[in-house]
Amino acid sequence: MIKKTVTIVIPVFNEGGAIEKHLPVIFENIKEIKEINIGVLLVDDGSTDNTVEKLKKLCERYNTLNFICLNRNFGKEAAIHAGLQQSHDDAVIVMDSDLQHPPQLIGKMIALWRQGIDVVEAYKVYRGKESYLSRLMAHRFYDLFGILSGMNIKNHSDFKLLDRKVVEAYCAMPEKKRFFRGIIHWLGFSSAQIPFEVPERQHGVTAWSRFKLFKFSFTALTSFSTAPLQIITFLGVLCFIISFIIGSLALYHKYMGSAVSGFTTVILLILIIGSLLMIALGVIGIYIAHIYDEVKRRPDYLIDWKRSHLNKP
Ligand code: UDP
Ligand code: MG
Repeated sequence: MIKKTVTIVIPVFNEGGAIEKHLPVIFENIKEIKEINIGVLLVDDGSTDNTVEKLKKLCERYNTLNFICLNRNFGKEAAIHAGLQQSHDDAVIVMDSDLQHPPQLIGKMIALWRQGIDVVEAYKVYRGKESYLSRLMAHRFYDLFGILSGMNIKNHSDFKLLDRKVVEAYCAMPEKKRFFRGIIHWLGFSSAQIPFEVPERQHGVTAWSRFKLFKFSFTALTSFSTAPLQIITFLGVLCFIISFIIGSLALYHKYMGSAVSGFTTVILLILIIGSLLMIALGVIGIYIAHIYDEVKRRPDYLIDWKRSHLNKP
């Protein structure tokens, strides 16, 4: 019987100080799985440290390890997309390189996939050690995402196993700015969930600044919901009604001869309407920027084949 094959896709960015310690742990775990052929494909997302040199050395040690290098740092989402497009196996597992996605779960994921599940998702029951503000922001983001898009992906992670048909459906989508977690959920294939607790990062530091996360949440929200645009219309109508009431009152007072100076009201109205208009323009601007990015049809990543340890297809 021909053995089924699985690729583990791992995006890496500036992990020179950590990858040599983390990768052997992943290989140690997949060694136990005998019934499937498992290969590992690392995607170097434009690291500026010695990650690529370290990867070359690791390839001499593990013959099922390959890597591709992106021309520059295109971001984790693009790196995942590149890895998925370069994998041709029966299933793909996407995971982080820093062991915050426990490799011990790989066997369990594969077992569920072999029972016929298309998407096996690992979800966080404990988000790991993080600041109160980060936790609060993450929770509010997922709440807002749920309200606006109607999809509950709270506590989901990028640690997922995808059957080939899911990978193909994902890669066939033409959009450039991608939110991996959201799109996989949106595709609606059969899925199973495995809980996990995020362990602390042992080596290296996270590459996500608060600003990067903030930008990423805007992309995620605007690519899954146009509700903010509709909220603007609603606010516009509300403002019109309030202005109508205040306007009528002002006219009434004027004709009754009891008009007050009204300075405060005018200032308040100008400020409220002015700021609402600015917010409205801002929200429309975010969507226009999104459309602009998509219509340019630029690729979301480029592979440097000369530096990669994988043959160009
Ligand atoms: N990563 C990437 N490109 C980036 C940032 C991160 O490929 O621009 C990789 C990183 O090397 C790691 C994974 O994505 O393997 C998760 O990143 P990190 O641990 O920094 O994120 P966190 O765990 O804090 O969400
Ligand atoms: Mg991490």
